[in-house]
Amino acid sequence: MTSVLRLKAKLPTPLVALADLAYDYWWSWTEERVSLFSTIDPSRWQACGHNPVALLEAVPLERLWQVAEDPYYLNRLRHLVSQFEAYRRQGQPVSLGGNRAPWASQAAPQLSSDRPVAYFCIEFGLHESLPLYAGGLGVLAGDSLKSASDLGVPMVGVGLLYRQGYFHQHLNRSGWQEEHYTHCEVNHLPMELVRDEFGQPVTIKLDIRQRPVRVQVWRVQVGRSQLYLLDTDRSDNDPLDRRITGQLYGGNPETRLAQALVLGIGGVRMLYALDIEPMVYHLNGSHGAFGLLEVALRDLRYSEADFEAIAAQVRQRSVFTTHSPVSAASNVFAADLIESFLGGYWPHLGLSREDFLALGNRRPDDPWDLFSMTVLALRLSGKANGVSPRHGEICREMWQALYPDCTVDQVPIGAITNGVHAATWTAPLMSDLYRQYLGYDDPTPTTDPSRWSRVDAIPDDQLWQRHSLLKERLIAYTRDRVRTARHDRGEAADEIAAVDRLLDPAVLTLGFGRRFSPYKRGELLFSDLHRAIRILAHARRPIQIVFAGKANPTDDEGKRIIQRLMEWCRHPALRDRVAFIEDYDMAVAKLLLPGVDLWLNHPRRPEASGTSGQKVALNGGLNCGTLDGWWAEAYRAGGAGQAANGWVIGKTNPATDPDSQNHQDADSLYDLLEHHIAPLYYQRDRAGLPRQWIAMMKASIRSCAPHYNSDRMVAEYLTQMYVPSPGPVAVSSVSS
Ligand SMILES: *Cc1c(COP(=O)(O)O)cnc(C)c1O
Repeated sequence: MTSVLRLKAKLPTPLVALADLAYDYWWSWTEERVSLFSTIDPSRWQACGHNPVALLEAVPLERLWQVAEDPYYLNRLRHLVSQFEAYRRQGQPVSLGGNRAPWASQAAPQLSSDRPVAYFCIEFGLHESLPLYAGGLGVLAGDSLKSASDLGVPMVGVGLLYRQGYFHQHLNRSGWQEEHYTHCEVNHLPMELVRDEFGQPVTIKLDIRQRPVRVQVWRVQVGRSQLYLLDTDRSDNDPLDRRITGQLYGGNPETRLAQALVLGIGGVRMLYALDIEPMVYHLNGSHGAFGLLEVALRDLRYSEADFEAIAAQVRQRSVFTTHSPVSAASNVFAADLIESFLGGYWPHLGLSREDFLALGNRRPDDPWDLFSMTVLALRLSGKANGVSPRHGEICREMWQALYPDCTVDQVPIGAITNGVHAATWTAPLMSDLYRQYLGYDDPTPTTDPSRWSRVDAIPDDQLWQRHSLLKERLIAYTRDRVRTARHDRGEAADEIAAVDRLLDPAVLTLGFGRRFSPYKRGELLFSDLHRAIRILAHARRPIQIVFAGKANPTDDEGKRIIQRLMEWCRHPALRDRVAFIEDYDMAVAKLLLPGVDLWLNHPRRPEASGTSGQKVALNGGLNCGTLDGWWAEAYRAGGAGQAANGWVIGKTNPATDPDSQNHQDADSLYDLLEHHIAPLYYQRDRAGLPRQWIAMMKASIRSCAPHYNSDRMVAEYLTQMYVPSPGPVAVSSVSS
């Protein structure tokens, strides 16, 4: 019996449909997500990490029956279920192009559920209940699957099921980050083990470390998209091999290479075992690049051609999105390690050791001691892109050595700017307002600027009131988390009581949430402590800031930044104005991003894209960032009766040496906060409304929402990368 059926058997008849919803993450981007499951048992809902399957399994029957005889609940459930059924039939009425038929079936008729886009990624961030992501890369992958589902683009995700997920962050009494892992109860997660017609788990086999490893597969339903997760934790595997899919980014180079083999080679074998023959292979990040070798291997079996000829065919079906802008050195493996893991594989491709290592080698004259997954992905992909125009430029410079016949401008790496899934990242309080004033049943797509320009019709006081509620919620939540953390660390009673004074809903609130690594410069605001205090603790125009984010377990420099931030949280002049929320994840992000007035983003240049600021803008928040990544494209200075949509830190062409860049940018940030941002925020009319600030909020929504959302992004991937067509489906019809 499948897990859904088992759950249905437990539920009272009026609630049976909850089982279908619980096993499809579609529920997580409806407005009902706030209360659909949580009202059944709020404290259990918290305890089980917002996982609806675990909740429904744990709730006592008596409580389920109370819900099952509540006519209000049943009405709402019935309504949601009819939406769900309509959605599964045809997607949301977001028919891009204004036509009734799903847009994608017109734009790309060659794609189908048997011949979909296979989207490979080492992490997927769909929801906080599925801890298979670390940050931006994974959330982008999750948002892509959701938009593909909304647009009707046939897409399957291929990833790994990490039994221990990603680490939880705990800060000890000295502010030092400690990492701990919890074991996922896979049988209570919203996923099904994929079985054959005899009820046996479908498995595929591959050789790792000269041993056969058996891999089983789980399926997660994401609306009309599926995510397949590969899992080596089977009793018939060697104990070492069972741990391959143990921790995301955990372990040594050997484990990470084994993960890359399972994802790439295992992923392609799995798709074939399930009778899925992808039309397009999309590598989001380079971790799955070995998969393209496996595709070549399959083609070789039916062909007399050599590897070069076959690779040319593979390139016609492969797309690679590169992410990291700084580390040409990241995701590389020692050649010896590659040899010990793949020495038995390359003969099947008709390749010698030298030929094979050359596939991952930056230039012919480099010593063959490092094998780069990014180089392999670039070599085997017909199309490649960076994640913002600026990032595309940087990638072309960075990888020119691979294309000796091209000038930098000719290097075939384009750019598609990242976007975020609007329904996931817009707080329901805000989307409710948009529905009233932008029109919910309006068939124009979410990417249509004319739809969003109607934000001007939202009365200022209503927008401000909703935003203030979201801010109040963030502050209440932050206090709660900080109080618990102080209590758990055994801090003194007066330290715990002081939390009551932490943050103030009336104060201009900044947010900063992302990975702490030196180049993201999380402590730029405190470069000059005296100035920071003068600005934050200003008597009439105070400013407060909420931080969140993890440091990579091996990144001591990043951990030291967090430690210094924790010191500022205790500083007598700042203690009520600076807060740190531990263990940043998607649940925290959904509270933090819509709750802040202003988002700070100031990595050392260059940056790839950044997406958090896009989520902030969807909720009416403003951005203040260096002119880099997505913000270099999105920033609007205003003028001609239009308000600006945020602020720019530092110069367009900053000093290249890091110290001077820090100095310039900190100076610029202080100047903006003190002389521009705070005065504007505190400038109120008789009704207490900051009219000019609200005008900027509207400019932020109007200018960012139609373009920096993943519907636009997936549509661009489809028309430019997956099935480029010279025909009528120009990208401009979607995004202009
Ligand atoms: C959006 C998001 C990120 C990505 O942040 P960037 O601004 O792209 O660095 C990371 N973590 C979580 C939990 C997110 O929701």
